[in-house]
Amino acid sequence: MLGKTISLGRILGIPVRVDWSWFVIFVFLSWTMASNIFPMLMPNYPATVYWIMGPCSALLLFLSVLLHELGHSIVAMRTGTGVHGITLFIFGGVAEMSNEPPSGVAELVMALAGPATSVAIACGSFGLGWALGRFAESRGAEAALRPFGAVLYYLAQANGMLAIFNLLPGFPLDGGRVFRAMLWYRYGDLRRATSIASRVGKLLGALLIACGVLMVILGQMSGIMFILIGLFLRNAASSSYQHVLLMSSLKGIPVNSVARRSVIAIPPDMTLQTAVDECILRHYPDALIVSDAGKALGLLTPARIGKVPRDRWTSTWAVHAADSTGMQSPARPDEDAYDALMRMSRMNAAELPIIDAAGRFFGIVTRADLMNMHRVRGELER
Ligand SMILES: [Zn+2]
Repeated sequence: MLGKTISLGRILGIPVRVDWSWFVIFVFLSWTMASNIFPMLMPNYPATVYWIMGPCSALLLFLSVLLHELGHSIVAMRTGTGVHGITLFIFGGVAEMSNEPPSGVAELVMALAGPATSVAIACGSFGLGWALGRFAESRGAEAALRPFGAVLYYLAQANGMLAIFNLLPGFPLDGGRVFRAMLWYRYGDLRRATSIASRVGKLLGALLIACGVLMVILGQMSGIMFILIGLFLRNAASSSYQHVLLMSSLKGIPVNSVARRSVIAIPPDMTLQTAVDECILRHYPDALIVSDAGKALGLLTPARIGKVPRDRWTSTWAVHAADSTGMQSPARPDEDAYDALMRMSRMNAAELPIIDAAGRFFGIVTRADLMNMHRVRGELER
């Protein structure tokens, strides 16, 4: 679902990004508010007023969603769950956690923190709108201050709806997380709890889709949004469950036990042609490591060499064709296979070098090997 994102910087050390799809909802909301909602709520104002209020409301809603996600993130960090970032997209926001919460109770508090933040914003905006109304009345400035009040009331309503929608019991919505936390507490088994919670999440997704279809049949085009959210929820429920399965099969297994050790070190100025003739076609290693005076500079797999046009093999140095992305954060031999896999997917790396604290090179770990291990272990448990 999430494609290209734009970085907005960091809040409390957490990177905040906006997905391109967010702009679609921003334009749609601004337009609906400016051309329909506000003219209906407070008629007889100049069009420019509505067109300032529309985008302002959409931006404030965006800020509210961000605060909702920050609510989750702050609690997550307090309970020792890392947060990789917050991404805002067409259906709201998502805080990416580095792992599952440590316990059912931690998950319960983490899940409730977001809706609690939204309720607090709703109450705050409502109170502010009310106070502004009283103030305007006492000064006889109702007409001038009414647009501000309308935006505040809209914000209160939108945040209230945000809290209610998120508390629906479909995992991985917040309410579904609360449900999973309770199941987790009851059974003491995260996998079983997630399996049940994600089935309920899929069911809720199906209900949303059915509602949306009915609305469209009855001529209400906003049903399309219900259908899309339902599809998104179903997809998120099943991928969250797959993620927990992945975690339970790879957690606790050191990377070193799946390392590929058939790796040959080569100097940075060796040409690709020599590397192929002297190393790959003689010893058939999994990868070549380009190293200079014992320092690993990059990995060179046969697949990577294959991407360089053959007529350039004699003129290309190994160091220039090697992949150095994994070198900045290599895997440690005793590192958890699950953590290494998550890092690889964030870095979009197919493999990571395994280097110990003293800088010694152990081999490589590949994403394909880890996924294969997960598949085999899953088959054994079935
Ligand atoms: Zn939430």
